[in-house]
Amino acid sequence: MNNVIKDSHKIVVKIGSSTITSEDGSIDKDFIENLALQVKTLMDLGKKVVIVSSGARIAGVSTIGKWSRKEDIHYKQALCAIGQVELMDSYRRIFIQHDLHVAQILLTREDIEDKARSLNIRNTLFTLIDEGVIPIINENDTVSVDEIKIGDNDMLAAHSTVLWGGDLLVLLSDIDGIYDKNPNEDKNAKLIEEIKDIEELEKNISIGSKSSFGTGGIETKIKAAKLVTKYGTPLIVAKGKKKDILINLAEGKEKATIFTV
Ligand code: ADP
Repeated sequence: MNNVIKDSHKIVVKIGSSTITSEDGSIDKDFIENLALQVKTLMDLGKKVVIVSSGARIAGVSTIGKWSRKEDIHYKQALCAIGQVELMDSYRRIFIQHDLHVAQILLTREDIEDKARSLNIRNTLFTLIDEGVIPIINENDTVSVDEIKIGDNDMLAAHSTVLWGGDLLVLLSDIDGIYDKNPNEDKNAKLIEEIKDIEELEKNISIGSKSSFGTGGIETKIKAAKLVTKYGTPLIVAKGKKKDILINLAEGKEKATIFTV
């Protein structure tokens, strides 16, 4: 695991909803601060980083202070429109303190599937990264109805990794990795540190319910792993709230799950 991070030059880091938010649903500024420091450290080592960030809807709820129970799609989209600004504002304010510029990229499934559009995005990504700017990608929820949705940010991160030609995808979640059973439901659950055969894994683990803030759960992480490993890219699932998690993983000081290729 530590070698995989050390040897990777193009790293995509996906931040799950429960990692980016505090318990009260507001944006966790301390997490973003620690993330900025870690990204800076990785960049100083010559690595390039792309962030895929969830959390717009929850940030929307905590900003406007209402609509959390509205199921109407337009209210959900309105919350994302409000929260996306808050989210990017937090990233921008904190990252600039470390001399890091960020850029927002909002995507839908059509942007990934359409050749001309995906080529355009790819070129923009390369330009930003070559100039040392950190792209922060999210699904364009205000225009994404079900038909054109990627649906969850684990898959958005996987598609973004393939599009950019990233050589590692790290999914920062509220859990240390994939367990044989849902650890929130079974205390004897064991962390699986390395996964070589995804189909074999699917036969042998039980997948429980997801966290209250999360959208995809473990299933979408496995689906994302299937996609990137097909392109020869490993995927790590790790606990985002652990301080310096990326750096400590690189130094072999933390445990997580890696899907190897
Ligand atoms: P995020 O939004 O941070 O990516 P999710 O809530 O979508 O997180 O997915 C992580 C959650 O999946 C964990 O908090 C855990 O409750 C649940 N889960 C269910 N089955 C498993 C399993 N076998 N191993 C690990 N986590 C599991």
